[in-house]
Amino acid sequence: MLEKVVIANRGEIALRILRACKELGIRTVAVYSSADRDLMHVRLADESVCIGPASSTDSYLNIPSLISAAEVTDADAIHPGYGFLAENADFAESVERSGFVFVGPRPETIRLMGNKVSAINAMKKAGVPTVPGSNGPVGENADEALRLGRDIGYPVIIKAAAGGGGRGMRVVENENQLLNAITLTRSEAKNAFGDDTVYMEKFLQHPRHVEIQVLADGQGNAIHLGDRDCSLQRRHQKVVEEAPAPGIPQTLRDDVAEACIKACQEIGYRGAGTFEFLYENERFYFIEMNTRVQVEHPVTEMISGVDIVKEQLLVAGGNALSLTQEQVHLSGHAIEARINAEDPDRFTPSPGKITYFHPPGGNGVRVDSHIYTGYTVPPYYDSLVAKLITWGPTRDVAMARMRNALEETVIEGIKTNVPLHRERIFRDPAFAAGGVDIHHLEKKLRSN
Ligand code: ADP
Repeated sequence: MLEKVVIANRGEIALRILRACKELGIRTVAVYSSADRDLMHVRLADESVCIGPASSTDSYLNIPSLISAAEVTDADAIHPGYGFLAENADFAESVERSGFVFVGPRPETIRLMGNKVSAINAMKKAGVPTVPGSNGPVGENADEALRLGRDIGYPVIIKAAAGGGGRGMRVVENENQLLNAITLTRSEAKNAFGDDTVYMEKFLQHPRHVEIQVLADGQGNAIHLGDRDCSLQRRHQKVVEEAPAPGIPQTLRDDVAEACIKACQEIGYRGAGTFEFLYENERFYFIEMNTRVQVEHPVTEMISGVDIVKEQLLVAGGNALSLTQEQVHLSGHAIEARINAEDPDRFTPSPGKITYFHPPGGNGVRVDSHIYTGYTVPPYYDSLVAKLITWGPTRDVAMARMRNALEETVIEGIKTNVPLHRERIFRDPAFAAGGVDIHHLEKKLRSN
């Protein structure tokens, strides 16, 4: 069992990890930048260490500082949360080399899944369905690239193997644009990721984003906790997530989840992970794996009753998973609305002092948030300030509870996207019906 964990993150996820540690009787070390002294979890942690100035490059991304924080506090593990260094294989490796436990998969696994070409190949081998495509890097030969494009059929998408965060991708409508698009994506990839490997995939026109949550202990046990639909996105950023994904035939869900478990076993996966798929015309297509806890994990927790962060900590401490697949019972429906400190119409960041905060409550309502009245949202980091999660025995009840929760929520002093959720998203008949595609929200925002 782990005894003391450094929480190498900030904001709501740092507080989330702190809560899980406390439940397990694990002592906590909060690390914070000089702009983050007033974070809620810093006050609640057993110990805290300032790791550098506001700029995340010098603090939350500063590997030597994080490792020294673990050394000076005599901790035994580091939990990376999401974002920052969570999917950085070099960080995981440094943590382990310095004698600490990395709460996450082995560095080799992070590396394998961090490269989309090697990830897709590993998934194919395990029988996970992938997008029809180049089956590996697109070479320099123009004739071959053109032949590939014709075989796959237009439109296609050129993607950087090392890409992430929605960058390093280019859609190609027809053959005339292909070679130029490959050259451009290649040079962008080289500049942004230091690796100019690109590959080609069929571009799906109206997919949904559906993902499978897995847990594995690296000792041969792997389970899934069902699926989530995260199709409501703006600029590739998820805005609303729900579990389960509405309207998907049960046999299709079971088959894809089964394939994910098999993949976990084949790659010796350890910890929490998410297999992301595009879903179109009743078919799943793997696009990438996230080797960490995700922002939207609470919706899965609400329908499964499983504490995903506690499982991460238990597995990192060398324990087997605390439950088997037969013990997983999914019940009801959960929805999450991401609350960001931003202008609800123009989406520009709105940092500043929160003069009043009143969170919603009631049956089936969960609020994961680090903010409080008097807290100042710094301008340096992600704008996520709260996650509103509602559960109901049916999707309609979860939606009704979300509408109530959004009406109850009061955040004053800064602008937030609460009005966007309240007045547009959760009053949208198409979203209420379930199963909209990944372009739905942007189309809606353009239309009024
Ligand atoms: P990243 O790692 O940058 O997030 P992903 O591979 O997960 O990249 O793709 C990000 C988004 O780009 C997807 O959620 C989807 O909206 C779009 N996308 C990626 N591949 C395809 C594809 N083959 N067809 C249609 N859309 C795609």
